[in-house]
Amino acid sequence: MEKHKFNPESLMMTYGYKPELSEGAIKCPIFQTSTFVFKTAEEGKAFFELAYGLREKSPKEELGLIYSRINNPNLEILENRLCLWDKADDCAVFESGMSAISTVLLEFLKPGDLLVYSNPLYGGTDHFIHHFLDKIGVHTIGVMPNQSIDEVIQIIKDSGLAEKLAMIYLETPANPTNDIVDIEKFSQLAKQFSTKERKVLVAVDNTYMGPLWQHPLQCGADLVLYSATKYIGGHSDLIAGAVLGNAELMLRVKTLRTFLGNMVSPHTAWLMLRSLETLKVRMDQQTKNAEIIADYLNSHAKVEKVYYLGLLKEGSEAFAAYQKQCSAPGAMVSFDIKGGEKEAFTFLNHLKLMKLAVSLGSTESLAEHPKTMTHAGVDEEQRRQMNITDRLVRLSIGVESAKDLIWDLGQALEAVEIDLTLKLERV
Ligand SMILES: *Cc1c(COP(=O)(O)O)cnc(C)c1O
Repeated sequence: MEKHKFNPESLMMTYGYKPELSEGAIKCPIFQTSTFVFKTAEEGKAFFELAYGLREKSPKEELGLIYSRINNPNLEILENRLCLWDKADDCAVFESGMSAISTVLLEFLKPGDLLVYSNPLYGGTDHFIHHFLDKIGVHTIGVMPNQSIDEVIQIIKDSGLAEKLAMIYLETPANPTNDIVDIEKFSQLAKQFSTKERKVLVAVDNTYMGPLWQHPLQCGADLVLYSATKYIGGHSDLIAGAVLGNAELMLRVKTLRTFLGNMVSPHTAWLMLRSLETLKVRMDQQTKNAEIIADYLNSHAKVEKVYYLGLLKEGSEAFAAYQKQCSAPGAMVSFDIKGGEKEAFTFLNHLKLMKLAVSLGSTESLAEHPKTMTHAGVDEEQRRQMNITDRLVRLSIGVESAKDLIWDLGQALEAVEIDLTLKLERV
């Protein structure tokens, strides 16, 4: 019989879990334990030899359970399942997206190195780069969404730090404007600046799209990072993060995690195992709803512009990158309301079904005002360059009925009074 390869969504309920090791329980129980009993002293010794890299693993050997800061069944099963979506060798789960991101930056950058990153970045990542990495002497250069790859190459060369380039850090599509960066082109750029002794790594924060609609490792990236708080958790009830990549890099990430002690708890890992079972149906429904909503907003008289991947114009560079690296337009829709902060706030204050909150990727739809909320800390001039203005509203679309969502958007827009005959001031 031909060997059948199951799709990840078919494996999310069972993969990596052996019921016979847990009294036959159909679901993986919570291993709420700090430590694990060794059968013999020899076994304990052998486990530690592997955990501390004191010898090579023999072909059939697996690292045994030692202590929940190093390993735990809930974490291991979750990590194995997450690997399926991104086709990664290994995964490490963290207590937050920020701890996943900061651990990667700490492990692969040292004083004197150069980090090149795409703008805009998640606020927490931006803060870590400018308030921590800068302080320890890591050089950083931010690239704007409209800069071409040739311009970026020139900027790196002109900086005089090309030989120090250690990492390219990308966030695409970017929050909150859905600006797209071509992962493959940046991976080629990283190759161009790599030498035999020094490989320039490409790390991608795939929170906005993943792990379903974009697979950065398949586009040449070395590491993919997630705030698992968002789509992976998917129910606004936990904070977690994940990093995936090849075995060699992940060994380094997991080793630093062991000593920082920022792994996720067994209970949160267990909640995520439950979330993964419905990941595909949730994300399918969310993107279906988002496409309908983006179309609705795009033709609404009180909406000036919609930022949504499904509305990118054919022929543009962004569209080409989108076609190459994304399999769906996702469920994040931002738009400029006609008017300014007053009109945006009136709209937000009148929503009935959608909740006014930051975060994204959850089953319930959320709305927020990036300029005064998620991106309040970003430099005003940079914000203007990135279209984060008073008019911008960001929506994270959930799994509700699209009809109900459209009703809600319609009545909230109805409440906004604008003189449609006025010529809008464009700043
Ligand atoms: C939320 C978010 C993070 C941070 O994740 P936490 O789980 O809140 O620590 C990082 N990157 C992106 C794109 C995010 O949306």
